Amino acid sequence: MKRLLAGAIALSLPLAAAALDAPTFDAQRLSSDVKTLSSDAFEGRGPATAGETKTIEFVTAQMQAAGLQPGGDLKDGQRAWTQAVPLLRSQITGTPKLSLAHGGTTQALAQGEQIAVRAPMDGSKAVSIADAPLVFVGYGVKAPERKWDDFKGVDLKGKIAVALINDPDFETGKGDFGGKAMTYYGRWTYKYEEAARHGALGLLIVHETAPASYGWATVKNSNTNTMFDIVRDNPAATHPKLEGWIQRDLAVELFKRAGLDFDAQKKLAQTRAFKPVVLKDTLSADYAVDAQVITSHNIVGRIEGSKYPDETVVYSAHWDHLGVGAPDAKGDTIYNGAVDNATGTAALIEMGRAYAKGPKPERSVVFLAVTAEEKGLLGSEYYAANPLYPLGKTVAVINTDALDPNGPARNFTTSGSAKSDLLDQLIADAKATGLTYVSDPHPEAGHFFRSDHFPFAKRGVPALSYGSGNDLVNGGLAAGEAAGKDYTKNRYHQPADEWQADWTFAGMVHDLPILYKLGNDLANSRRWPDWAKDSEFRVTRDASAGERK
Ligand SMILES: [Zn+2]
Repeated sequence: MKRLLAGAIALSLPLAAAALDAPTFDAQRLSSDVKTLSSDAFEGRGPATAGETKTIEFVTAQMQAAGLQPGGDLKDGQRAWTQAVPLLRSQITGTPKLSLAHGGTTQALAQGEQIAVRAPMDGSKAVSIADAPLVFVGYGVKAPERKWDDFKGVDLKGKIAVALINDPDFETGKGDFGGKAMTYYGRWTYKYEEAARHGALGLLIVHETAPASYGWATVKNSNTNTMFDIVRDNPAATHPKLEGWIQRDLAVELFKRAGLDFDAQKKLAQTRAFKPVVLKDTLSADYAVDAQVITSHNIVGRIEGSKYPDETVVYSAHWDHLGVGAPDAKGDTIYNGAVDNATGTAALIEMGRAYAKGPKPERSVVFLAVTAEEKGLLGSEYYAANPLYPLGKTVAVINTDALDPNGPARNFTTSGSAKSDLLDQLIADAKATGLTYVSDPHPEAGHFFRSDHFPFAKRGVPALSYGSGNDLVNGGLAAGEAAGKDYTKNRYHQPADEWQADWTFAGMVHDLPILYKLGNDLANSRRWPDWAKDSEFRVTRDASAGERK
C-alpha cells in the first residue's frame, strides 16, 4: 500500500551509499529477485498454495546464499527458516438471516445492502442470535491517557454495540485525537477489539463515507467474502461474535425509533459527556459458517548480534500477494504482485546480503518476510502476537511495501506519520542524501494502520513503513504523480502488476542504503527509540521499559 508511487527513467542522484558510508545495492540483483518472485511460476504467491512453497524455497535459498542464519521456529534446539502461521479461514455459507425487531414488527435486513456482517473469527460453525438489544456507544473509544471513555461502565453482555467510524475529533478537526488525522482509536479493527474487551456480543459500525474514507461498496466487498484471521488462543478477547457495518440511513432510522436524532447523538459523542444509549430495536441473526484452519509461513533470516544478541532490529516485508483470481480483460488470472510486494521482498533479501557482507552488528538483526498481508496484516500480526524474539527488546521495525522499481526521487514518504525517534532518525539520514520527507498526505485515511509495521506499533515497538517518493529526479512531481496514478489505475491489485524489463531499480539502489544505515546505527548502539510523548503507542512501550534497563 502506498500513495507516492513514481516511475520514470533514472537519472543520477548522488549515491546515498557513499554519503552514508553504507554498502551499495545491486540493481541487477534486485531486478532478478523481483522477476523471479513475480513470475507466473509463483502463481501470485497466495498463502498456503504451491506459490507459497516456491516462494519459501527461493527466499530461503537467497538468504542462505547471502550468509544469513535461519531465525524461525525453534525445533529440537534448531532454528527453522520459517515460522508456521496457522490461519483461520471463515466464510458464511448461504444467505445469512438478519433482522431487526421493534414494537412487534420485524424488519428483514439484506446482507450487503443495509448491513454487512463478517464471518465470525472464533472458529464457530454457526451464529445464532435472538433479539439482542442494541446499544449506541458513540465512537466506541476508551482512551485512559486522553481521559476519554465512551462506555462509562455499560454492560454489553449479550448485547450488540453500535459505534461511529473514525475518532471523536475527525469532524471538528480539532481535539485530543489528532484532529483530522486518524489515531488508532478511529480504526475499525480497534473498535471490534475494544467492544470485545467490554464483553459485547457484537459490534455494528455505522458507515459514513467521509470518516471511513471509502464508500459502502468497499465495506460490502471486504466484509461479505471469505475472512481470515490468525488462530488465537482466546479469540473472544479480540473479536465479538458478530462483527459488521450498517449503512448510515439504517442508523438514522434506528435512532429515530428510539426518539433520538442521529446527528445530535453524534455531536454528543464528540464530547466526554457522552453516555451509551440503549436503542429500541433488537437484532436477530442466523447463519451457518464454514471455518477451517490453514497453515502459511513467515520466512525468517537472522544475524546474531556480537554483543547484545537478545536485542533485535527487524526489517520486514510481506512476501504474499493475491494468488490466482478473476481474469482481467486480457484473460490473465495470475496476480503477480511485482511491485506489491516482490520489490519489498527483494529489498529484504538484498538488505540481508548487505548485513551479512558487512561487519557483524552488536545487536541481532532479523529479516522477516511475512505472509498474508493482503488478508489483513496477518503474518505480521501472528509474529507480533507470537514473537520469536521478545518485543520488549525489539529496538525497531523497518518495513517496506511496494517500492518504486524506477526512480530515483528527491523525496520519500511513510505510511502514516506517527511521530517517533525512529521516524526523526530516518528523516535525518535521508536528508543527508538529499531526500526530503513528505508526511502522509491523507492521515485521515489511516494508512498507518494498514501496513505490516502496525502490529508491532500497536504493541509499542517503534515501527515504520518506508515509501518511495514521487518527486522524480527525471520529470519531477508531474511525472511522479502521473506514474502513481497509472499504477493505481492499471496495475495495483491487478494481474498486470508484472515485472518490466525497462525497470532500472535506480530509486531502490539510492534509497536502500538509507534504510541500512537507520537499522545498522541502531544495531550498533545502546539507543532505544521511542514514540512521541502524545502517541497512543508510548504507554504500551513504557509498560515493558523494565526489559530494556
Ligand atoms: Zn503490499
